[in-house]
Amino acid sequence: MSHDYILGIDLGTTNSLVGVVDSGFPILLADSEGKRSTPSVVFVRPDGTLQSGPAALRQRALHPARTVTSVKRLIGRRQGEGEWQPPYDLTALGSTPVEISAAILRHLRDIAETRMETTITRAVITVPAFFNDAQRNATKRAGELAGLTVERILAEPTAAALAYGLNKLDEQKKIAVFDLGGGTFDVSILEMRDGVFQVLATAGDTQLGGDDIDRAIAAHVWDHWSANGGVWFDQLPAEVRVRLTTAAEAAKIVLSDHPTARIDLPFLWQNQSLSIELSREDLDKLATPWAERTRAHCWRAMTDAKVKPADLDEVILVGGSTRMGIVRSIAADIFGREPNTSQNPDEAIAMGAVIQAGIIAGSLRQIVLLDVTPLSLGIETFGGLMNIIIPRNTTLPCKAGEMFTNAVANQESMLIRVLQGERELAKDNWELGRVVVPFPPGAKGSARVGVQFSIDANGILEVLTRDTVSGRDTILKIENTAVDVDDAKVEAMISESVEHAFEDMNERVWTESALKAKELLPAVDEALAQLGTEIAPDEAQRILDCAREVSTLLASEVHDARALKAAVALLDDATQTLAVMLVEKAMDEALARRGF
Ligand code: ADP
Ligand code: MG
Repeated sequence: MSHDYILGIDLGTTNSLVGVVDSGFPILLADSEGKRSTPSVVFVRPDGTLQSGPAALRQRALHPARTVTSVKRLIGRRQGEGEWQPPYDLTALGSTPVEISAAILRHLRDIAETRMETTITRAVITVPAFFNDAQRNATKRAGELAGLTVERILAEPTAAALAYGLNKLDEQKKIAVFDLGGGTFDVSILEMRDGVFQVLATAGDTQLGGDDIDRAIAAHVWDHWSANGGVWFDQLPAEVRVRLTTAAEAAKIVLSDHPTARIDLPFLWQNQSLSIELSREDLDKLATPWAERTRAHCWRAMTDAKVKPADLDEVILVGGSTRMGIVRSIAADIFGREPNTSQNPDEAIAMGAVIQAGIIAGSLRQIVLLDVTPLSLGIETFGGLMNIIIPRNTTLPCKAGEMFTNAVANQESMLIRVLQGERELAKDNWELGRVVVPFPPGAKGSARVGVQFSIDANGILEVLTRDTVSGRDTILKIENTAVDVDDAKVEAMISESVEHAFEDMNERVWTESALKAKELLPAVDEALAQLGTEIAPDEAQRILDCAREVSTLLASEVHDARALKAAVALLDDATQTLAVMLVEKAMDEALARRGF
């Protein structure tokens, strides 16, 4: 079978990642050392040839002037443009930013070709939202130099939103993407409209990131070392500074999971060995001034996009540096809410690039002509409804999947009931099997469970479930799908579904409206309690009347779906002003806290 894979690539300032959609799943590919993230570093050998990846990074301590880092800051810029002064002279090394980037892309392509055991020539590459035409074109040229046809240059925040599945939000939603990486900070406000993301505003600082924190730790450690001989950190030879900052970064990463970390550097300076313990408090103190710098940019982006924090439907954190607790709490304070951190911050952009690549390749839904499925296959979802994954009459073999999330907080697992049939309610369809998918408990909506159905040419159904956060898979093989059930039974199921169409539909509408009502009622109570006297008495009465009507219908034994649906819509409508008042109140409070 020949594959036409398209790579999804996050070409980062510090780290780069690559992946593909394989059998319907977006995956990131590991290199020969088992790492899914590759340092964006290129070592220029004395003969002018280029070496990239972890091996190049290891050269940095020995040959800082020949080791090219953060080339993304230089790509597509004229020489001397921009404030950043690299610690190397690229012209003297006889290379260009495009060639260096191409070497990184070539390395990523090699990883993918080795893993997938095939030649791959197409890619989607992400770039910061603020990249101009020259920078985008230069990135594209780097791809071509690495032998890749660049199918799409994708904005990083858009990619991150794709990875979070936010493209599934059908209404008009606004999202903030807060990206603190190794050397840059970007914040973007996106709006999702009719399935397309638009970048409303972007702001940031091209000189702010984890590197600054590493340097602050290194300088702090050096200053507190008794054997420093009165030499300033900045006066140290480059090799010593590199050793110190590398150790500082390692300690910083340890501190995001542990209360303390040790830095041990044998024979660091004048034959003296350094050994120091750092605490989480030390790190927070050193990192706070840097993390605080993101605040003004976030407000700037929100102002440009004309949104207040409360207008945002989601705030997502990406970039390795958002793994730090202090960064998370500052982001939470800026946006006045807990950010969504359910995806891996250092992998989200790459995942989004892979998803986009999969959509272009058409491999997120792969169909080859053969036989067809006689009945729909799906799983039971919230409220006992049938959720169809493979509709009846789909040609075999086929593969299709969907992402599901947890409906309640702290849920630890999900029961997947595999169903076959045409009825709206799960209980009226045939159960083919069931499987329990465990996942780490978290907030409502934080779990990401992929369910993939694949039916081979023989009609054997395989259900693959994956907790995409942990990457754990469960496979359920089902041999007795209705492909081998006799025609009469299939006929009966179909005619039954037609017969019961009306009452089935009624139950579906009822269930969906009831779910919505159960979310709305407590929210209304809470809002009324919060706003209290600020709301006009007749307005409050109207809302209460609507809420009472919904409660009465909900409690009644006859399920009048149409009435409930209408009552819920009325209540939703009546509470519009309430929602606006809540937003304004939150905004006023936020401004007051800032002394306006
Ligand atoms: P970029 O987009 O610039 O390529 P990444 O998103 O890969 O960067 O982030 C790299 C930065 O994240 C580095 O500064 C690294 O030290 C930092 N980082 C990675 N993991 C952690 C962690 N667990 N705690 C703190 N910082 C981390
Ligand atoms: Mg990045």
